Amino acid sequence: MFRIGFGSDIHRLVPGRPLILGGVGIESDLGAVGHSDADALTHAVTDAILGALALGDIGTHFRNSDERWRNAESFIFLRFAVGEMKQHGYQIVNVDSTVHLEQPKLQPYVDEIRKGIADALEVEASLVSVKAKTGEGVDAVGEREAVRAEAIVLLCRTET
Ligand SMILES: [Zn+2]
Repeated sequence: MFRIGFGSDIHRLVPGRPLILGGVGIESDLGAVGHSDADALTHAVTDAILGALALGDIGTHFRNSDERWRNAESFIFLRFAVGEMKQHGYQIVNVDSTVHLEQPKLQPYVDEIRKGIADALEVEASLVSVKAKTGEGVDAVGEREAVRAEAIVLLCRTET
């Protein structure tokens, strides 16, 4: 039995905030705004896992009005989703994702991001794909107003 899930997220970019994607700090003059650490990629992957299980999304489980999650490290949410996945008897088959960011180029960070997400998912990095695209100078991403991420995940039932 397989289940597929999709996650999508966007955060505004402003000066004076860190930019964290997939748990990795990105050197950038602009950072992402959010209640937590505003890690759009980790939020998208988390939502994809929760979506595959039809368990709502991050906001269902971690209210953004809750002071506990202010500037929280988003891997807390990802590990929670992995825990739910295991409890429901599923494991990761693979993850594919895309980050849309105009600057800087993410390619130098991609392997570290894949490794970090794979560790949180308790799988090999070869099962986690992270692709980086720019906004070609148009739209909110292209105008450096936002960072967006999308992720899709396939789960299968754990053999028992
Ligand atoms: Zn988010």
